[in-house]
Formats: sequence, structure tokens, C-alpha cells
Amino acid sequence: MGGSGSGRRMRWDTKDAAESQHRIDIRWLKKNNYLRPGISGTLSWSRGDEQTGWIRYTMEHDRMNLRYRYRRSGEEWQDIEQSVYFDHTPCNYGGSRKWFLCPHCHKRIAVIYGAGKYFLCRHCYDLTYSSQQENPADRLIRKARKIRKDLGGDDSLTDAFPEKPKHMHWKTYWRLRDEATHAENAGWLWIAEKFGIHF
Ligand SMILES: [Zn+2]
Repeated sequence: MGGSGSGRRMRWDTKDAAESQHRIDIRWLKKNNYLRPGISGTLSWSRGDEQTGWIRYTMEHDRMNLRYRYRRSGEEWQDIEQSVYFDHTPCNYGGSRKWFLCPHCHKRIAVIYGAGKYFLCRHCYDLTYSSQQENPADRLIRKARKIRKDLGGDDSLTDAFPEKPKHMHWKTYWRLRDEATHAENAGWLWIAEKFGIHF
């Protein structure tokens, strides 16, 4: 054990779009004792006999540092270095549980996905839908526009977010507002990813 320089294979299957991505599950790392500070090694993914990707990592007390190469189709390979920070929550029976903090939205999550240039949470990559169905950015931004219109506002995303309609519960309003904001952010993220804009 220790994993220094040794190839560690992470399993993945093709249940849904999220599963078919390069993912890092913090529970898997914990189970295999890879979360200890000072550990370094390689994680790789494969389908059948074919290796589909690999990264190098080092563990620190408060983060996991990732190093890998990434290439957008038709472009040169880029060296990427990314740090994914940890968060802790207390366990009922003492001790604490470690989580990843999504580098983009800072949500506490167990799994990060290398669906594009960076490893982010599934919400940021919107992996619940297959990206083949439709350009996710279009769908996300259409969703955000629809919520704005349903709330009686203009569908322009540059306008201020519509006020709460009189008849609506605050709870419903905030939920819709959260959904719209989330869809909008995720949509822009896809666009940024597509055109190589850094965030
Ligand atoms: Zn996220």
C-alpha cells in the first residue's frame, strides 16, 4: 500500500453519463487508504483493456493536487495542475468525514469528474444528462430563461432576476431562483470550457 508511483486502477462502468466519465471518489480513496498526507501516485481509468486516462496526484493535509495532460480536440496537449481542497464534517460516532470541495461551485461533494479540462462536481458539468443529446449550454440557458419567464420576467439573462410573483410562496421562489442561477452558471461554464476561457 502507499501507491507511490504505482498504478491504481479506478473502476468505472457505463450505467449513465456520469459513470462513464473519469471520476475520483473520495470514499474510494479513503477505503484504499490513499488520503493520508504525503501519499502520491497515479490514478488511471480503463474500459475493458483500454486505458482511457490517467493522472498523477499528491495528497496534502487540506487538498489533493492533480497533474495531468488535457487536449481539446484538434488542439495541443496542455499540462494541467489543479488543487482540490477538502472539507470535513463530524461523524455521529466521533472522528470526521472528508469531502471534496468543488473547485468551481465550492459545494461539498464525494465525487469529482474530469469531464472537461478540470475536475469538478457533477452539477457543474451537469452530468445527469448525456452530453450527446444536446449541447448542454443551450439546454441549461434555455432552462434559466424559461424560469425567468414563468416568474413573469423578461427572458433576458442580463436583466435583474424577476421579483417574486404575489401568489407564490417564498420557498418556491427561492427554489426556482436557485435552479435558474445554477442552470445559468453551469451553462456559462460549458461555454467557457468550449472556448477555453479560464475561471
Ligand atoms: Zn461544482
